[in-house]
Amino acid sequence: MTTTAPISPVPGATASASAPAPRTASPRSSAELIQAEGATVAHNYHPLPVVVAHAEGAWVEDVEGRRYLDLLAGYSALNFGHRHPALLDAARHQLEQVTLTSRAFHNDRLAGFAEGLCELTGLDMALPMNTGAEAVESAVKIARKWAYEVKGVAPDQATIVVAGGNFHGRTTTLVSFSDDPSARTGFGPFTPGFRTVPYDDLAALEAAIDETTAAVLIEPIQGEAGVRIPADGYLAGVRELTRRAGVLFVADEIQSGLGRTGTTLAVDHESVLPDLLLLGKALGGGIVPVSAVVGRRDVMSVLRPGEHGSTFGGNPLAAAVGSAVVGLLRTGEFQRRARELGTVLAEGLSALDGRGVLRHRARGLWAGVDVDPAVGTGREISERLLAVGVLVKDTHGSTIRLAPPLTITADELRSALAALERVLAA
Ligand SMILES: *Cc1c(COP(=O)(O)O)cnc(C)c1O
Repeated sequence: MTTTAPISPVPGATASASAPAPRTASPRSSAELIQAEGATVAHNYHPLPVVVAHAEGAWVEDVEGRRYLDLLAGYSALNFGHRHPALLDAARHQLEQVTLTSRAFHNDRLAGFAEGLCELTGLDMALPMNTGAEAVESAVKIARKWAYEVKGVAPDQATIVVAGGNFHGRTTTLVSFSDDPSARTGFGPFTPGFRTVPYDDLAALEAAIDETTAAVLIEPIQGEAGVRIPADGYLAGVRELTRRAGVLFVADEIQSGLGRTGTTLAVDHESVLPDLLLLGKALGGGIVPVSAVVGRRDVMSVLRPGEHGSTFGGNPLAAAVGSAVVGLLRTGEFQRRARELGTVLAEGLSALDGRGVLRHRARGLWAGVDVDPAVGTGREISERLLAVGVLVKDTHGSTIRLAPPLTITADELRSALAALERVLAA
């Protein structure tokens, strides 16, 4: 792996022709930092060889001052781009007031954040947490408690139905119902109480539901699985099935939500309202980890004082940034951008089908691209794109995921697609 390959500028990029001077006078080069990181940071990731030192909007800049278009956007944690001015302002303002109280006390930012989330989603109450995995864990606990207290499931018998190919996070309980060997192997024993059915299969889902079922937990679009989009009618079908069976519908929109697909939520495409909605990633504006369970009042009300919590959940800094995120989404501007830019993305990818791309799936500004293995693995394509100034990440073998910031311009997006075309043709 080398970090010294010359970077040809992305065509149409706004970067000046000559490389700008690095903004940070880092005493160590990218190569030195990568080596030091490898020696001292656990190897739980295999990062592409770029060391980011600065970022703004859709662009990041490495230690040597090379610029790259960011088409991963922190796995959709950066839907509003890097360092969005309104989000930075909200964070800066809050830094001067109060940053942490713990929920032992009230803080003056939490109510507004929760009200904003409820208004944005059409649900009634929010439970603030920090990471996505914590939001999913919280929903598992709420669903189980609801099953015992409201539905009357026998003690310790509650089950939750999940879908094959899911990704819900990395805790021991959440990897218990993953079917990805690298997520599970070596981490047992696993948490019982989960049943897996094929994704996008309503008959299998219906067959898996019985009197012990507390909830159905699915991603409306499976992100890590390669932006897998279910058939039209699936989400409405899940809603109808769960309603009839007296089972909670829990939608994990940690990656699909908050503007990414051209609507506020991916379930909005089928006008479906789940009982519990899980948000994370972009909810923290790329600044702080912020997640939430948002849900129906009668379901959320099964939690009583002392039964669940988080030291940092709902802290004033997180709530201020989260409220600013809700404020950006309230304008509808980002959903509109995702829709409009999504047509540019879809057209660009359609032109590549059969020319290095086997097939692709896209909704809004989000796509999974299955690269022809003859052209290279997903990793190799990602490395070649890096070398021409575009950041993406592979997921599962020969699939790459494109999730540009919703602030990217059409020209920037076209230049990135042109770079992909060149890389696939090379
Ligand atoms: C990223 C992700 C999670 C986990 O979020 P973390 O903040 O990494 O814990 C859960 N569900 C989905 C759908 C995700 O994409």
